[in-house]
Amino acid sequence: MGEYRQDLIDRAARDHVLNASEIESLLTDDEAEKALAAAADRVRQEFVGDGVHLRGLIEFSNICRCHCMYCGLRCDNSKIERYRLSPDEIVELADKARGYGYHTVVLQSGEDLQFTAPVLCGIIRRIKAMDLAVTLSVGERSYEEYQAFREAGADRYLLRIETTDAALYERWDPGMSHARRIQCTLDLKKLGYEVGTGTLVGLPGQTPAMIARDILWYQQIDADMVGIGPLIPNGDTPLGKAAPGDWHLTRRMVSLLRLLLPEANIPATTAMETMVPHGREVILNSGANVVMPNVTEGDFRRKYALYPGKICVADTPADCRACMGGRIRAMGRFVAADKGFRHHGRRRQDDERAKVCNH
Ligand code: SAH
Ligand code: SF4
Repeated sequence: MGEYRQDLIDRAARDHVLNASEIESLLTDDEAEKALAAAADRVRQEFVGDGVHLRGLIEFSNICRCHCMYCGLRCDNSKIERYRLSPDEIVELADKARGYGYHTVVLQSGEDLQFTAPVLCGIIRRIKAMDLAVTLSVGERSYEEYQAFREAGADRYLLRIETTDAALYERWDPGMSHARRIQCTLDLKKLGYEVGTGTLVGLPGQTPAMIARDILWYQQIDADMVGIGPLIPNGDTPLGKAAPGDWHLTRRMVSLLRLLLPEANIPATTAMETMVPHGREVILNSGANVVMPNVTEGDFRRKYALYPGKICVADTPADCRACMGGRIRAMGRFVAADKGFRHHGRRRQDDERAKVCNH
C-alpha cells in the first residue's frame, strides 16, 4: 500500500493527472497526508513560488436573501444583527487596505440586492482608481450584471460551487438551482474574470467520491482560484447540530488541488484556522499560497458571522496585516508585492525575488 500510495503521489506531482478513484483513495487515506502535503509544497514552490498573496477582505453587508442551511447570514436567521456599509465606507476601507500594503481587496457580502449593479459599479470604479485589484464575492447575479461589474474594472470573482453534486447542493441550498450555479461560474469565465470556486467540506451526505468529482470539475473548468473550508456548524441554522467538516480531509484536499491544478491560487482559509490554531500555516505548507486577512472594522467583524468562533473579531485590520506578515516571514516565505494574478506555466525563478515586499 505504502509504495502504491507514493507512486500515485509522485505521478500526480509530475503529470498533474489522476482519475476519480485514485483521488478518492488519497482523500480517504490518513497516512497519505504528510506525503501529499510535502509533494504539494514542492509543486507550489515550483509553479507559484514562495510569495504569499494577501487579499484584504471587506465584509460589506451581512444581509442575504438566500436560505443556505449552514450559513449564519441566511435570511431566516433572526438572531443576527444585520448591517450594511455605505459606498463611501466601503471605499474608505479599501483605501485603508491599500495603506496597509494590500494590492487586492475582496468585496464580500450576502446576496444583498440593495447593492444594485450601478451602485456596485460605482464602488468598483472608485477602488480601481486606487490601483487595487478588485475581487467580488456577492453571489449569483445575471450575465448583464456580471458584465457591468467587469466593465467597471472587477478583476476576479469568488463563487464557490460548494459541491458539484446537484442533489446535495439543492438539499442544503434550498431555493437555489445547481444548474444556475454552474451557469454563473461559466458566465464569469466567459467574461474574462479570474474565477474562484470551491467546496464546503463536510456537508451532511457528502462522500469522498463527490469531493473527487469536485476536484476533477475544477480541473475541467480550469479554475483560477479554489477556496475550500470545513463546515463549521452554526447553532442559529438548521445545520447547527451537524458534525463539523473533517479538518484533515480538507487538508488532503488542498494538497490534491495543488498537485492537480498546479497554477491555481489556493487560499489558506479562515475556517481552517478557526478549527485548528495556526491552521493557516499548516495549510500554507500543504499547497496553499494565498491568505485573506480581514480588513473590516469594529463590530462589523463579529456581526459577519457565517459560522461561530470566527478568529480575530476583536483585532484591527492593522493587527491582522502585521500578524500575517510576521507569520509568513517566520515560515521562510514572503509577502508578494504584486497584485497576484494567476501564474501561467512554471514560475520564472528570476522574477521571484524582484517582487518581494518588505512590509
Ligand atoms: N454570499 C456569497 C459570499 C458569502 S458566503 C456566497 O454565498 O457566495 C462565503 C462562503 O462562506 C460560502 O461559499 C460558504 O462556503 C462559506 N460558509 C458559509 N457558512 C459556513 C459555515 N457554517 N461553515 C463554513 N463555511 C461556511
Ligand atoms: Fe447568503 Fe452566501 Fe450565506 Fe448562502 S452562503 S446564506 S448566499 S451569505
